[in-house]
Amino acid sequence: MTRALYLDDSYLKECDATVVSVTQGKYVVLDQTLFYPTGGGQPWDTGKIVNGREVYNVVYVGNFSGAISHEVDRSGLSEGDVVVCLLNWDRRYKLMRSHTAAHVFASLLCDGTGALITGNQLGLERTRFDFNLENFDRSILKTYIAKANELFQEDIPVKCYELPREEALKIPGLIKMAKAFPPNVRTLRIVEIVGVDIEADGGTHVHNLREVGRIQFLKAQNKGKHNRRVYFSLDDSSVSRG
Ligand SMILES: [Zn+2]
Repeated sequence: MTRALYLDDSYLKECDATVVSVTQGKYVVLDQTLFYPTGGGQPWDTGKIVNGREVYNVVYVGNFSGAISHEVDRSGLSEGDVVVCLLNWDRRYKLMRSHTAAHVFASLLCDGTGALITGNQLGLERTRFDFNLENFDRSILKTYIAKANELFQEDIPVKCYELPREEALKIPGLIKMAKAFPPNVRTLRIVEIVGVDIEADGGTHVHNLREVGRIQFLKAQNKGKHNRRVYFSLDDSSVSRG
């Protein structure tokens, strides 16, 4: 098992690690990492693994039964190497802002319309949501985007913590995608946007809704009788963020 440092501190940008194994020269497992592996609708992190003067670019990260594997762009790393991990923070921070924004938007949409989220995919350019909703109207979606943007101006903390499974499952609305949590998972990681949303989730999030900035509606599609799809993106055009 790789120790996943991003679960405890999503703002960590650099860490030391020891190479546990290297497969085919380019799939590197470390004892601990700050690189998020693709999953739960959130794409993988990129960055660098540095061994002395040698630099290896991380091009993909995946989680294989708890072993987080970093695909690097060239061979040269060996078991036992002590390395430094450097995160591509610009990419990650956009994904963190998008991920927290997605929880807020989904929560408003589900609470307001009774829609059920059936899938989602975060991206650097746009974030996609699939949901079930009988009466479909683009203006409704724009209303919830606007409501989300109002919340992003408020000083609302986002907390991440663990709860025993039994305790967590008593919280109404916690499991929005139940199949993501197999029965052998004993503790669930909770992401709580205080007063807005609470969800079991393994992704990386900002600490405060103010950090999201703004989101904008891109487009919506009908994907069948009750299946809908909506795209939004971060809107960094007019805000200066400090
Ligand atoms: Zn999430």
